[in-house]
Amino acid sequence: MDFALSVDCLKVYYFSDLGIIKAVDDVSFSIKKNESIGIVGESGCGKSTLGTALLRSVPYPGKIVNGRIILDGEDITKMSDDEFNKKVRWKKISMIFQGALNSLDPVFTIGSQMKEILQQHCYSNDYSEIIADSLSSVLLEPSIIKKYPHELSGGMKQRVSIAMSLLLNPKILVADEPTTSLDVMVESQIINLLKKLKKDRNMSIIFISHDLGVISEVSEIIAIMYRGQIVELGKAYEIYKNPKHPYTEKLVSSITSIKNKENKFEFLREKSLDLTRKESGCKFYDGCPYAKEKCRDAPPVINYKNGFIRCWLYE
Ligand code: ATP
Ligand code: SF4
Repeated sequence: MDFALSVDCLKVYYFSDLGIIKAVDDVSFSIKKNESIGIVGESGCGKSTLGTALLRSVPYPGKIVNGRIILDGEDITKMSDDEFNKKVRWKKISMIFQGALNSLDPVFTIGSQMKEILQQHCYSNDYSEIIADSLSSVLLEPSIIKKYPHELSGGMKQRVSIAMSLLLNPKILVADEPTTSLDVMVESQIINLLKKLKKDRNMSIIFISHDLGVISEVSEIIAIMYRGQIVELGKAYEIYKNPKHPYTEKLVSSITSIKNKENKFEFLREKSLDLTRKESGCKFYDGCPYAKEKCRDAPPVINYKNGFIRCWLYE
């Protein structure tokens, strides 16, 4: 199978003063070329940590402690920082970080911020052409290069951050909450833009969101994350129509009963999970209506259709 990216038994821990936080705890999935996968789960389940691990940008005191991330046949976890920065970052995989639209530097123009990225990562006689191409692919006029971030709307700033991530034509894009803090109209424009870019550029996209409505609009495959693990992975419509894992079942039933006025669904955001809590068995044991004695041991990962379920019920 020709995968764009394969993640295998990935573990990312934060070594904090409070103890070891297993933010990503044995995650495996693959994504094909030109495919999109949505990583969904409530706040604190480890989505952003997973995204940053794919870019080798896990913040301190976090560390990749186990697993492989195979991109173009190479395990990027084994590369030196220098090799990763030269060969992979921006060129093969790029990321729109959470809150990207607010992280543009207020004292520099858009053009100079884009040029700086290019100067650090590639050589060209004509950076302006690359910048203009990238801006036009997100439907922005070239004149925007003279503007400062405060002169742009939220939607325009998000388009700029997408254009920046595409400057070196990566084949994989990680988009972490790309529509958070945008109003509904702009959110839908950004979603349509990302769908168009995926098609036009034959890209694979990894969408990260707590909002199943957004994810289901843009992803063919959905991975449901709970306390650092993917508990169910499958085709988006299968997960909606027939959720298998008890946690997915709970989420889908809760969102369908709180359909909001824009006809989108949003997870009930729970307070940040305590990932330092000790447990050896199923992480959903306390919340699961079907829990049995066996569930005190770690549940098996059962292949189901084109995905999997991590639960003793399907043994
Ligand atoms: P959100 O949707 O709120 O961004 P998330 O699902 O993306 O949440 P992460 O941000 O990956 O979750 O966080 C996973 C867990 O890792 C959190 O519950 C937090 O306890 C821990 N964590 C994240 N960043 C750090 C850090 N810099 N230092 C210590 N612990 C961290
Ligand atoms: Fe529930 Fe057991 Fe499945 Fe965990 S393994 S989700 S406790 S049935």
